[in-house]
Amino acid sequence: MIAISEIFGPTIQGEGALIGVPTVFVRTGGCDFRCSWCDTLYAVEPRFKADWQSMTAEAILSEVNRLSGGEPILVTLSGGNPALQPLDELLRSGHQQGHSFAMETQGSRAQPWFEQLDHLTLSPKPPSSGMPFRRERLEACLAAAGAATKVTLKLVIADEADYQWAKALAADYPHLSLYLQPCNPAPATPEQPERETDIQALNAQLRWLVERITADRWYRPRILPQLHVLIWNNERGV
Ligand code: SF4
Repeated sequence: MIAISEIFGPTIQGEGALIGVPTVFVRTGGCDFRCSWCDTLYAVEPRFKADWQSMTAEAILSEVNRLSGGEPILVTLSGGNPALQPLDELLRSGHQQGHSFAMETQGSRAQPWFEQLDHLTLSPKPPSSGMPFRRERLEACLAAAGAATKVTLKLVIADEADYQWAKALAADYPHLSLYLQPCNPAPATPEQPERETDIQALNAQLRWLVERITADRWYRPRILPQLHVLIWNNERGV
């Protein structure tokens, strides 16, 4: 059984390599991290377990098909950390039904079924998250991806220390597409679900990041905002 926090869509992917692509989100419940700026605490903290559903792969696909109107679609597996869940059957059956699958994880847990993913976004967390970085675990996730899995690195940047960390890390993986994303300085929290993001502050951070890479003549990364935050602010389920 798979712990599910929410299934919603269709909407568009707001981040990373697949930004703008129509998708249904399947958000799993539970995470082995607790980042200082996490914007999905309702899918992380055990106190929200009562809100999560235990679902079979078949039930999840049935909901995906209902939301997509029966059309094949990109299914985005997010969390929490979806790598903690048994997702092999979901991937196998979903592919048989014509869906494709993208997953985002912090790279702390590798699973054999990573090889079935069409897209794998590895998003190891920078120093500002307060979480430790374990390189051997990231390496295990890279090794678990299949020959046809498109793997990208997506790094959230809150400050100069994060930027320097990202630059050093990315240098060790020159073959991966690289995306940098400014940190949402004021995500909604379970206590403040209606909290509005300061879009001006977010834009200022985006500008700083662009200026930072151009000053460094570091032309490899793509700099992207969280498109869904710009469109819908911190609203859940879009
Ligand atoms: S890894 Fe992601 S879901 Fe888990 S605590 Fe960090 S930001 Fe939240």
